Amino acid sequence: MEYFAPLTLREAENLKNKAGGSNVYLAGGTILNWKKSPKADCVIDLKNLKLDYMKISDSRITLGAMTAIQDIAESKKLPGALVTAARNFSSKNIRNMATIGGSAAGKFFVSDMLPVLLSFKARTEFFINGRKRRLLLEEWLKSGQGLICSLIIDRPGRLVKVRQERISAIDFPMIVTAIGFEIINARIKDPVIAVSGASAKTEILRSAAKYLENSSIENVSHGKLNRLVQKEIEPVDNIKAPAGVKRRFIESHIKAMIDEYKEVEK
Ligand SMILES: Cc1cc2nc3c(=O)[nH]c(=O)nc-3n(C[C@H](O)[C@H](O)[C@H](O)COP(=O)(O)OP(=O)(O)OC[C@H]3O[C@@H](n4cnc5c(N)ncnc54)[C@H](O)[C@@H]3O)c2cc1C
Repeated sequence: MEYFAPLTLREAENLKNKAGGSNVYLAGGTILNWKKSPKADCVIDLKNLKLDYMKISDSRITLGAMTAIQDIAESKKLPGALVTAARNFSSKNIRNMATIGGSAAGKFFVSDMLPVLLSFKARTEFFINGRKRRLLLEEWLKSGQGLICSLIIDRPGRLVKVRQERISAIDFPMIVTAIGFEIINARIKDPVIAVSGASAKTEILRSAAKYLENSSIENVSHGKLNRLVQKEIEPVDNIKAPAGVKRRFIESHIKAMIDEYKEVEK
């Protein structure tokens, strides 16, 4: 196996595109070093690309791709849902290694961070074909192209909440559910409901979100919302939980979060 630690994005991309074998970007290595990961021929370490930073203001948050999950967990300035998701993440040892870029790019079967990032409508800045581009994370996940440079939250004021279940505090989660929206003139605007762990990839529940759009929070019916959610999700049994249990977790998460919003709006 060959190992490189390039100093520029362009150099990293050239190494990735080098013909022959499997060339992979290395961030924290928690997935790449996992026994179930396929072996790589060439590892391109991202540690020298200066992607370990956080820029936080009232109007925008930019998390460099190499930001460790532990740094997010310790932040006193980041929005609560992001910090909570990072604190939920396995053990401190894993959090010190795992990065936010690896969480987005890694496509692990369950994620603490993705539902929250999607609920914030985060964008991805990534380097491809010699230049930087930006895409909504939701769109970027469809192709997973290029080298992620940062995750950008343009609307840090969105009301985002997250709930999760795991068998023990140092385990992967079974289910992570997040909701995010804005309230404009007492109406819900631009809602996102995202679930990770139900099936192989993090899902966005569109018909449930459509039901929330323009509703006032106190008029949201748990029964109606849950019927839409249950119709849309297709959970699968896995080693962590059977599909039926996952359905009940998601139902209880959404109910608890909506009830919390209702309390605040009273
Ligand atoms: C024991 C263990 C426990 C875990 N616990 C949790 C948990 O509690 N919650 C959770 O959500 N996840 C968990 N995970 C999953 C994993 O740790 C996370 O998804 C993590 O954030 C991956 O980040 P990393 O920096 O370690 O990625 P790496 O392992 O370095 O890389 C993962 C993949 O992403 C690619 N990649 C990394 N960075 C970039 C980039 N900037 N641009 C493009 N591609 C990139 C790599 O090429 C690789 O394919 C766990 C994994 C393990 C092995």
